[in-house]
Amino acid sequence: MKGTFQIEKFSTMRTPFYYYDTGVLRKTLQAINTEAGKHEGFCVHYAVKANANPKVLNVICQAGLGADCVSGGEIEASIRAGFPASKIVYAGVGKSDWEINLGLDLGIFAFNVESTAELEVINQLAEAKGKVARVAFRINPNVGAHTHANITTGLAENKFGIAMRDMEPIIERATEMKNVKFIGLHFHIGSQILEMDDFKALCNRINDLQEVLERHHIRVETINVGGGLGIDYKHPNRVPIPDFKTFFNTYARFLKLRPWQTLHFELGRAVVGQCGTLFTRTLYIKEGACKKFAIVDAGMTDLIRPALYNAYHKIENLSSDEPLETYDVVGPICESSDVFAKAIDLNRCHRGDLIAIRSAGAYGEIMASGYNCRQLPKGYITEDF
Ligand SMILES: *Cc1c(COP(=O)(O)O)cnc(C)c1O
Repeated sequence: MKGTFQIEKFSTMRTPFYYYDTGVLRKTLQAINTEAGKHEGFCVHYAVKANANPKVLNVICQAGLGADCVSGGEIEASIRAGFPASKIVYAGVGKSDWEINLGLDLGIFAFNVESTAELEVINQLAEAKGKVARVAFRINPNVGAHTHANITTGLAENKFGIAMRDMEPIIERATEMKNVKFIGLHFHIGSQILEMDDFKALCNRINDLQEVLERHHIRVETINVGGGLGIDYKHPNRVPIPDFKTFFNTYARFLKLRPWQTLHFELGRAVVGQCGTLFTRTLYIKEGACKKFAIVDAGMTDLIRPALYNAYHKIENLSSDEPLETYDVVGPICESSDVFAKAIDLNRCHRGDLIAIRSAGAYGEIMASGYNCRQLPKGYITEDF
């Protein structure tokens, strides 16, 4: 046993692989249910795109969360894992016809619509089936988030959502249509947000928009504020569970929810981020001209976040108690960006040491690719051992 891991269990396993600690996951889900449950009308969905491992999805489904999907494949994965269609919401700027038809056939809770062109297509496809699709409009609130530029989504310049000035026209268009029913508004400002003021700014924007709609006697039943709550990548042991209390309290305090409205959340990273670890082994220690490399058998094909966003993941050598040395931890892929960390301190590494790359439960396994003809990493949960 080293740190939080019983590594004896993993000693004969082929690396790299993902391991999901369902103890951490269940505690996280419990915290979400407890904290959201303190507020009338709060409903939490899980953003499937963060991690669609069937075993992980199943645990989340059992905790009673709904699912937030961004593709037909995610809707199928959610249904297979046991999520009821009545708790599925479906967003995305480019929904294809088969994906919309799938949502219609299943009778999902809502389509989060991102353009007038899409609304017309949903109405046509619903008409062909003699159905009525529930739609919410994703509004681009032009609210920035203090996070990586590639993961802000709520600025006017981003491709997501409907411009605020087009909000009333599209709602009015929907009311004229026979095969769609307008139910509410949807927002999502970005990811890995730890600054509660960003969520507060979203609340203020929504309050303004609600007043505009009320002046026009438009009734809104659901407000969906998306996800985006961040996790503590630096301290996965000390802060394994995000501060859901403050997060939900921020919305309770600043968003003026009407008594008949429900408030929906779509949390991804905050649900699964800390329960996942990517396990890898050192293949070689290489003394470069000016630095030392720990070359591991996982690469950017298994976990792309460091290469894509320069993201930080805590890395630990589980096999060694020897003094710390400084390494660049790199993978085997033929790309210079295939680097997990530069100049970090690890207990002295030897060939074959088991290395843990922490906080890898979100946007890890799901983003894996077969580049370099690599096998996709396998994913295990606590119950598999
Ligand atoms: C990605 C996404 C989420 C989840 O974001 P997290 O930062 O992982 O919580 C929620 N809603 C929508 C529409 C998304 O695209």
